[in-house]
Amino acid sequence: SRAGSDEASVELARRERIFSRAQERYYERPPQIERGWRHHLVDTTGRAYIDMVNNVSGLGHGHPGVADAVDRQIRILNTNSRFLYRALAEYSERLLALLPPRRPDEPGEPLDTVLLVNSGSEAVDLALRLAQVATGRKTVVALREAYHGWTMASDAVTTSAYDNPDALATRPDWVHVADVPNRFRGTYRGEHTGPRYAADLGADLDRLAAQGRPAAAFLCESVLGNAGGVLLPDGYLADAYARVRAAGGLCIADEVQVGFGRMGSSFWGFEQSGVVPDIITIAKPMGNGFPIGGVITSRRIADALATQGQFFSSAGGNPLSCRVGIAVLDAMAAEGLQENARVIGARLVRGFRDLAARHPLIGPVHGEGLYLGVELVRDRDSMEPAAAEAAAICERLRELGVIVLTTSERSNVLKIKPPLCLTADSADAVVAALDRVLTEGW
Ligand code: PMP
Repeated sequence: SRAGSDEASVELARRERIFSRAQERYYERPPQIERGWRHHLVDTTGRAYIDMVNNVSGLGHGHPGVADAVDRQIRILNTNSRFLYRALAEYSERLLALLPPRRPDEPGEPLDTVLLVNSGSEAVDLALRLAQVATGRKTVVALREAYHGWTMASDAVTTSAYDNPDALATRPDWVHVADVPNRFRGTYRGEHTGPRYAADLGADLDRLAAQGRPAAAFLCESVLGNAGGVLLPDGYLADAYARVRAAGGLCIADEVQVGFGRMGSSFWGFEQSGVVPDIITIAKPMGNGFPIGGVITSRRIADALATQGQFFSSAGGNPLSCRVGIAVLDAMAAEGLQENARVIGARLVRGFRDLAARHPLIGPVHGEGLYLGVELVRDRDSMEPAAAEAAAICERLRELGVIVLTTSERSNVLKIKPPLCLTADSADAVVAALDRVLTEGW
């Protein structure tokens, strides 16, 4: 309505007065959202949208279990982790119980130690510090086209040109950027490219060692989230981890986006590749919007931090965030959300692939579960990114009641990372809306 768009204009102007120009926003003119319920958002005019982008709200918006946990705990106690209270150990044990057992032939130490912080950036920052102190080395190898956070260290390993067009030219000298193993548009294309990308990573590791700056760690997302939800080529991660470990480095899996049941067929992204990392970073869906982040690693690696003094985060692991974290895990299990991600994700992939048969603009459909990307290209051979088309399609989808936005440094991938409670009806409605836009034009 007119009144609603006037209200949104006022709010946008107000925000522009107080926000940095660097602060990102969705759309030129974002809708003014008043409430969320499950996988829906409702704006101030009463208009409801299907929310396909809020991967932080894993359980869905307005979850009563989370609301009750906050309400109950904040009335009883919220203090810091220097005190004893039951929720900290209880939540940490629950997190550890989510890890797959390490195969007898898999190198590495038991993942038995948890450090709790408040965001993904903090988790990545801490993981890098742990790797550096545990190995006594400095260099971190990160993949091109990745996003890992905004703090000084997590930004240093962020290589995506979307976030910073000069990213590659401006990384600090302790960061080495390795090629991104994107078999759809990278250096090597097609099947059987995993070993070739891993061999190139091995050559990088050799070169770093020869230069006297051997790698402390290799950091990557277990599925390339910020490249568009691109699955790693078969064999890449196992081969890469083996090479990193042979070179004396540690393997860090950034599971901030991909972890926590979103893949459907596995709880963690790294399970897709049959590996177990040395350090895992987690955040986003842990608190369903409540700020929680964490690092899971071995006791030896976590204890190495003591050589640098004490570690403490004022809100990290407090009773409130632990109770929220436990409520999230309870709800995920009770509502079968990982299984729902598997079933509804497969339904969406089928729908998008059917559309691809009729609409040449749709290139590869990436990902699995509810961690998907629909890549739009002007030509399937040259893979020329259809970025302007993608932006216009997102605008039109919004008019049709679907919130979808673009991702990747080419901004040509429709990011499909909805709350895990997405229903079959809503999934079908999203596919039908995209079909309509591609048929009618935008
Ligand atoms: N790692 C990955 C893979 C991410 O996607 C993000 C957030 N987009 C972060 C780290 C940083 O998390 P946060 O925004 O909670 O600091």
